Amino acid sequence: MAEKRDYYEVLGVSKNATEDEIKKAYRKIAIQYHPDRNPGDKEAEEKFKEAAVAYSVLSDKQKRQQYDQFGFDGPNFGGGFGGFGAGGFSMDDIFSMFGDVFGGHGGFGGFNGFGGRGQRAQYRGTDLRLKVRLSLQEIATGVTKKFKVKKDVTCSHCHGSGAEAGSGSETCPTCHGQGVVVKTVRTMLGMMQTQSECPTCHGEGTVIKNKCRECGGTGVVRGEEVVEINIPAGVAEGMVVNVGGKGNAAPHNGINGNIQVYVEEEQNDTFVRDGQDVIYNLLLDFPTAALGGEVEIPTIEGTKVKIKIESGTQPGKTLRLRGKGLPAVQGYGVGTGDLVVNISVYVPKELSRSEKEMLQKLRESDNFKGDPSTKQSIFDKFKNYFS
Ligand SMILES: [Zn+2]
Ligand SMILES: [Zn+2]
Repeated sequence: MAEKRDYYEVLGVSKNATEDEIKKAYRKIAIQYHPDRNPGDKEAEEKFKEAAVAYSVLSDKQKRQQYDQFGFDGPNFGGGFGGFGAGGFSMDDIFSMFGDVFGGHGGFGGFNGFGGRGQRAQYRGTDLRLKVRLSLQEIATGVTKKFKVKKDVTCSHCHGSGAEAGSGSETCPTCHGQGVVVKTVRTMLGMMQTQSECPTCHGEGTVIKNKCRECGGTGVVRGEEVVEINIPAGVAEGMVVNVGGKGNAAPHNGINGNIQVYVEEEQNDTFVRDGQDVIYNLLLDFPTAALGGEVEIPTIEGTKVKIKIESGTQPGKTLRLRGKGLPAVQGYGVGTGDLVVNISVYVPKELSRSEKEMLQKLRESDNFKGDPSTKQSIFDKFKNYFS
């Protein structure tokens, strides 16, 4: 087993973190290293497990107290927490123990890819992965997308049973309907019984007498389906929307797989996204910056909105239009972001003769010579310092 890191360090919290802080920290890490987001990434999986182990101890008052007192050598844990390392946790365990941490998803990024546990074996269809490219406007409002998906579908000839009409199924001769086979093996500790899935019926307990000629007995055939997927508002690049039951159909009317939709964001020419905020760079004409006025700016919904410019507005000033940014994805943030307007001032590159004349007059005015009072005050400070 890899060297154990301090549980507080793993979650990035202080020794006196509250229960709530610990839960929040764990949730953040678990989402970051979630297998849906990091498919096939072993390192992410290890981090995910490590965080779960840390959370399992720090979220339990008694265990935390003992850990605080004795570290990894807690007396009531038989050999300390060592027997409780990351190796002892499966992904299934993590989801069943701490699933509530993620609670209230309404189908977003749900952890239903790990079902079929504990009960009698049931076939599971595999998951499908899709990519979707979304514009900022679609992200702002949420959108329903249609996909034509090639996938395993239930065989219409046998309705998924895998049997020819009228033939039905019979009790599996290997396991006599138990779905499992029991072997007795001799070990150093004596005779032991091990149980494993029946190789003939794959745990179903029954076998088909007369296999369907369309699907060869599996109950599924290759097909195509148009799937409608609701993408919630506020999603971001790299997020995964999990759609339960829309993946490959399972053999023998088992549990269908899911569709995982990977979100990609289209570049936007007008706005820059910053989390839930959206940044707009406004190039203001000099007279309006100086005199004040009103300008129209675009919004992410594709409409326009008028904003007021104060007289004497400086380049670099930022205006914030509250609530005009992106909404939070359910359970992943709070409220709605802002539309942030960064103001810069436009200086024309070419000037007409009369414009030049006007500007030359302005140049002669003391009021247009930068800010003499600031320069003066710095100079004064120096003088006072040395006198
Ligand atoms: Zn069939
Ligand atoms: Zn069997």
